[in-house]
Amino acid sequence: MTAEQEWAPCRPGEISGLASRQRRDRFQAALVRVSSLTAVGVLFVGTAAAWFLFPKTYTYGGITCEECIGLAPAYVANEIEDPAVERSVRIHFEKCPLCGPHLEDFRQQVKTAWLQPEFFVAGR
Ligand SMILES: [Zn+2]
Repeated sequence: MTAEQEWAPCRPGEISGLASRQRRDRFQAALVRVSSLTAVGVLFVGTAAAWFLFPKTYTYGGITCEECIGLAPAYVANEIEDPAVERSVRIHFEKCPLCGPHLEDFRQQVKTAWLQPEFFVAGR
């Protein structure tokens, strides 16, 4: 048996099928990462870290800085279902001198997980 007989060419679509499976796996891994990021953000950042990061707190949109930062991961991921809460967080970020600059940080975190081009190419 020659080397050419042992090495058959790939069937059409074999490599792209493999690639799209890998992209799907990566997407699911990213999804888990974002979900846990949100949970950690709400539970941990919302309580403990805010006390250290924001010794002074403001109230804008009817919520404090502590509450706002706790809701931030869910806010940038569009996961807040209550429109009144969503509005409060938006107003707080718009007006608060402490929380406002951190909104971009949260957006970047979510963007790097969700908006990588290959997630859209995968065609789930
Ligand atoms: Zn604030």
